[in-house]
Amino acid sequence: MTSALHLEVSNEGVATLTFDLPDEKINKLSLEVMNELEAMLLQLKTNTSITALLIKSAKPNIFIAGADLKGFEPAFKNPTLGEQLITRGHKVFNSLAALPFPTVAVIDGACLGGGTELALACDYRVVSDNEKTQISLPEVTLGIFPGWGGTQRLPRLVGIEQALNMILTGKTIDAKKAFKIKFADAILPKEFLDDQLSLFISKITTDSGKKSILKHRKLSGFHYTLMEKNPIGRSLLFHFAHKNVMKKTKGLYQDPLLALNLIKHTYDKKLEKGLQIEIDTFIKAIPKEFKNAINLINLFFANEELKKNPGIELNVEGAPIHRGAVIGAGTMGAGIAWLFSYRDIPVRLKDVSWECIGKGYAAARGIYKTLLKIRKIKPYQIDKKFQYISGTIDYSGFQTADIVIEAATENLELKHKIFAEIEDVIRPDAVIASNTSSLPISEMSKHMKHPERFLGMHFFNPPNRMPLVEIVAGEHTSQKAIATAVELCRKFKKTPLIVKDCAGFLVNRIFAMAANESSWMLQEGVDMQRLDRVITKFGMPMGPFILADEVGNDVASKVFGSFYGAYGERMHPPKLGQAMADAGLYGKKSGKGFYLYGGKRPVPNPEVQAILKSINSKKVTISDEEIIDRFTLGMINEAARCLQEGIVEGPMYVDMGLLYGIGFPPFRFGLLRYADSIGVKNIVEKLNRLSEKYGERFTPCDYIKQIDSFYGEVGKCETSKSEEKLAPIFS
Ligand code: NAD
Repeated sequence: MTSALHLEVSNEGVATLTFDLPDEKINKLSLEVMNELEAMLLQLKTNTSITALLIKSAKPNIFIAGADLKGFEPAFKNPTLGEQLITRGHKVFNSLAALPFPTVAVIDGACLGGGTELALACDYRVVSDNEKTQISLPEVTLGIFPGWGGTQRLPRLVGIEQALNMILTGKTIDAKKAFKIKFADAILPKEFLDDQLSLFISKITTDSGKKSILKHRKLSGFHYTLMEKNPIGRSLLFHFAHKNVMKKTKGLYQDPLLALNLIKHTYDKKLEKGLQIEIDTFIKAIPKEFKNAINLINLFFANEELKKNPGIELNVEGAPIHRGAVIGAGTMGAGIAWLFSYRDIPVRLKDVSWECIGKGYAAARGIYKTLLKIRKIKPYQIDKKFQYISGTIDYSGFQTADIVIEAATENLELKHKIFAEIEDVIRPDAVIASNTSSLPISEMSKHMKHPERFLGMHFFNPPNRMPLVEIVAGEHTSQKAIATAVELCRKFKKTPLIVKDCAGFLVNRIFAMAANESSWMLQEGVDMQRLDRVITKFGMPMGPFILADEVGNDVASKVFGSFYGAYGERMHPPKLGQAMADAGLYGKKSGKGFYLYGGKRPVPNPEVQAILKSINSKKVTISDEEIIDRFTLGMINEAARCLQEGIVEGPMYVDMGLLYGIGFPPFRFGLLRYADSIGVKNIVEKLNRLSEKYGERFTPCDYIKQIDSFYGEVGKCETSKSEEKLAPIFS
């Protein structure tokens, strides 16, 4: 194998170790790289002519993107392999830390996980002011915690509070923050990195220079003294960190709690002792406490795959988007116009009156204000970006748009009229996309002169925050139009998922089964708060009735009505939804829906009980398990139908769509991985039983009856029972 590490020593004795993994865009720490690094460190250790060591990367904008997850994955389910992995990493990084001359990690670009731990094992860290310099320890997002010294070296360097902030959330910090919290000893201009590095080296090789750097590194200040220098402050820090983790994870993820406990019990111990406890804790956690890791790592790979292939192979390039236009300045239109402006693309925003445009402006401004509050943007940037949005109540300015996104009221006739108007105004090569949530794309393009340039771009609410956009190809949509929409999603930093045309497309069509079933359960007499509680405990981000109030019961009843029209009996909505809409209980926007929204927290709305009584609801007995089955199995059955109809190409697309579209719990990896973990045969039996009890909406479809598993690899998510069968990953 060609080597990944290259060593050069200058006349002055400064050694530079450059990391350049062959045939890869990024550097990652694989087994081979760790072996090579160890050998090189051994060689360096005995070279008495070396005065300092710089560790650099040859990859543009990447220092080290972390450990090689593909290679190390088996170690998270097998304690023997886990022990080899962890102790090996510790051994190599300890050798780095013990070198007899100063060592400097030169971070110019992304530095993640194992890369950050390597940098922590160096004596010094310098960061470039490159905006791509982003540092993190994202292990908790993969179901594990940093196990190559991260939980020990980071708190000792930056203090407990900052270390917990990074380790328990996986949060990224930029170069400025890295210098501010004392992770980095210097922040150097990218353009003059080499010159400035020479100066830095001359500094660390003199006593006075070294002293001034260590002085900057010293933790101090009122807040630090108050919170970290006395036991009450520290116990408060750990208490609030625990509370935050529980709030975020609802106790469903063990890894951040393990990391928290580990730091709490080791921050004041000798480093060697702390490192050993980190090793022991990591190994002990395999496989039980790290049971989510395999699923989360699979998810990571699926995400990478989706980035490369959004659903179908595209053999044309998309047109560049220099200018956009949006029709409708309501909830969605304002959010989409904001996306254009945030990415520095001029956009025309059209509505029927200046009053509507004003509301759209206010909504877009509101998003910027929120970003300002959380310090994600500077006031001058807002002023610049906001100017990219210009309002209109006719189609002036539409002639220059490369893409027009229609987000007007959901009404087929209105949309037909709008398309007829814009086709006469816009350029012949401009793409037209509709943000419709339920109208079939081919139906919408029926009267268009050029239906080949028309498609659906289904953003989720709120568009500024939701990561997914379903790209819906109609009967006549060209590859060029699809590729252009994919390109725009990438500019917006959204995940595009290409789906075939059908009512509700992929995500809403599948989720409708769960939302409808929740209403059936409530209507039968199951307690509403219990339903919300059980489903949240399963891992959904919110209960179905809190969600219904967010979406709006008026909107939902219309959508369910149209799904019933499209799919018939299996999507028959219970009377409850229409009754809620008729009673004006729209949800959050009207202050009352399933819950009342006047006070600090939503409380159940007594009017709902009266409605339920009027539709003959009575108390019923049902287990939590059956609630989860009724909530999930209809979705699985509908997902199988989508695969049968080719709405998407494979199960991974269903899983990623539901993960990003409705927040299906990441630790269950995805709806269809979850189905595989239960066993498809089991699910078919359960569906048959439910269908006898509740009717044909649970009747298993042909596709699900014919398969053994969705991914064709039964038990892939299970942890291995036989350690002996696995080859060691480290020799
Ligand atoms: P909304 O009611 O908030 O906004 C619609 C806007 O369209 C209004 O400001 C209205 O004045 C404007 N409008 C009506 N006729 C127009 C015309 N001829 N020209 C220009 N503007 C016109 O609706 P919304 O929630 O933003 O939904 C817009 C579209 O997005 C719908 O197709 C909806 O199905 C879809 N969608 C909504 C959501 C959601 O959660 N709200 C999610 C995904 C997709």
